[in-house]
Amino acid sequence: MKINIITLGCSKNSVDSEVIASSYAKMGHQVVFEEECPSNIVLVNTCCFIKDAKEESIEEIFHQLDRKNEGLTQKVYVVGCMAQRYKDELMQEIPEVDGFYNFAELAKLLENTNFDLLTNEGRTLSTPKHYAYLKISEGCNRRCSFCAIPNIRGNQISKPIDLLIKEGTSLANSGVKELILIAQDLTNYGIDITKEKNLDQLLLRLVDIKGIEWIRLHYAFPYHFPYKVLDVMSAYPQVCNYLDIPIQHVSEKVLQSMSRPSSEKEILQLIDTIRNKIPDITLRTTLLSGFPTEGKKEHDELVHFVEKVRFNRLGVFSYSAEEDTPAFPLGDPVKPKEKERRVQEIMELQEGISLELNAQKVASIMRVLTDSFEEEENCYIGRTEGDSPDVDNEVIIGTEQPLTVGNFYDIEIMEALPYSLIGEYRKLL
Ligand code: SF4
Repeated sequence: MKINIITLGCSKNSVDSEVIASSYAKMGHQVVFEEECPSNIVLVNTCCFIKDAKEESIEEIFHQLDRKNEGLTQKVYVVGCMAQRYKDELMQEIPEVDGFYNFAELAKLLENTNFDLLTNEGRTLSTPKHYAYLKISEGCNRRCSFCAIPNIRGNQISKPIDLLIKEGTSLANSGVKELILIAQDLTNYGIDITKEKNLDQLLLRLVDIKGIEWIRLHYAFPYHFPYKVLDVMSAYPQVCNYLDIPIQHVSEKVLQSMSRPSSEKEILQLIDTIRNKIPDITLRTTLLSGFPTEGKKEHDELVHFVEKVRFNRLGVFSYSAEEDTPAFPLGDPVKPKEKERRVQEIMELQEGISLELNAQKVASIMRVLTDSFEEEENCYIGRTEGDSPDVDNEVIIGTEQPLTVGNFYDIEIMEALPYSLIGEYRKLL
C-alpha cells in the first residue's frame, strides 16, 4: 500500500512519524511524507499542546477527510498526542475517521506486538538526508504548571545509550552529518536509568560516530544544569557551540506560579557561566508571554531581561490555558490583544538584537551546511553552526558554480539581515 504520513507539532513528533514509517516500510509498504498525492492510507500524526496546535490538527484531519471523499485516499487514521489525550471525544465528534490510535495502540495499527515508539529500531527520514533528529528520551518528570505534555507523554523514559549509538551510527551510514538531539527535557537524560544526569556520557559516545560532523542540543532545562556538558562541548568540535534552553520567564512571581522554581539572578548566573565557558556559543531560548500572573511589571521585567541578555535566537509563545494542567484554575485573564502586544514588543526588540549580532558576521568566512537549492532565486540555502533547521537563521548563498546540497562550504558573509545572512561561495570543505 502507499501510506502518506502528515506530521504536525514538534520535531519529537517527526521522529515518531519516521519510526512508524520504517515499520510500514518493513511490512513492504511505500511511505511518503506530507504529499498531496493519492494514497491508500493517510496517517495524521497530531499535536495538541496548545490551542493553536489543536486547531491545526483538527483542520488537517478534516482536510484529509475531504480528500477521502474525493477518492484521493481510502483510509484516514489519526495518531499522536491528540489521539492520546482526546481519543474518546474525537471518536464522538469525528466518526468519519477510520481509526484513532493512542501510543499503546500503535502496535495494533502496525501489526507488531513489540512495537515501541521510543526503542523500535529503524527510521525512514522525513528530513533532508544530511541531518536527522535524535530523540534521546520520552516524557518529562517536571510539572510546569502551564504544560500538558506530562499528561500526554508521561514521566521521562531515557533511551539506552547503546540503542542511541546504534541509531546514530545507522543514520551516519545513511549519509547523515548532523544529529539534532531532542527530548522534552534534554539535560535530565539518564536520570531514570542511572539516577545520574549523563547527557555528557552520551555525547562522549556520539562524537566517536564516523561521519557525524555536527551534534546539536535542543530543549535543555535551565535549573540544575549539568555543566559537564559544556566541558564536552568545548573539547569536541563536533558538538556545536549551540544551546537551546527555554527560559519561559524571569519574574520570580510568575516562575513560582509556573512551578519553575528559580529567579532572574540564577538564570543570569547560568548564562554567564555558559558564555564564560563557550564564548562564541549561540544561545536560543523560548519565552512564554501572557501567563495569568504576569502583569505589566512582570512583563517589563521580561523585556528588560531580553534587552540585557541579547540571546542569539529567541521565540515567544503566548499563554494558552490548557485543561488538566495545574495552571488551568488560574483562568486566562490577560486579553488576547494584550498578549499579542506583549509578544510583539519582545519580538521587535529581538529583531533589532538579531540584526546587530548578525552584522558582526559581515566580512567573515563561515562554515555553512547547505540544506537546499532555490531554483527561482538561483541560490542555495544553508545554515551555520549557530542555526538549527526551521527555527533559526538561514544563510542565502550566491554562487557561480553548482554546489552539492548536504555538503559543508566556506561562505564569505557579505550582508546581514535580521534573521538571515547573505553570503558568497568561497570553497568546498
Ligand atoms: S520541562 Fe517542558 S515538557 Fe516538561 S513540564 Fe516543563 S514545559 Fe512541559
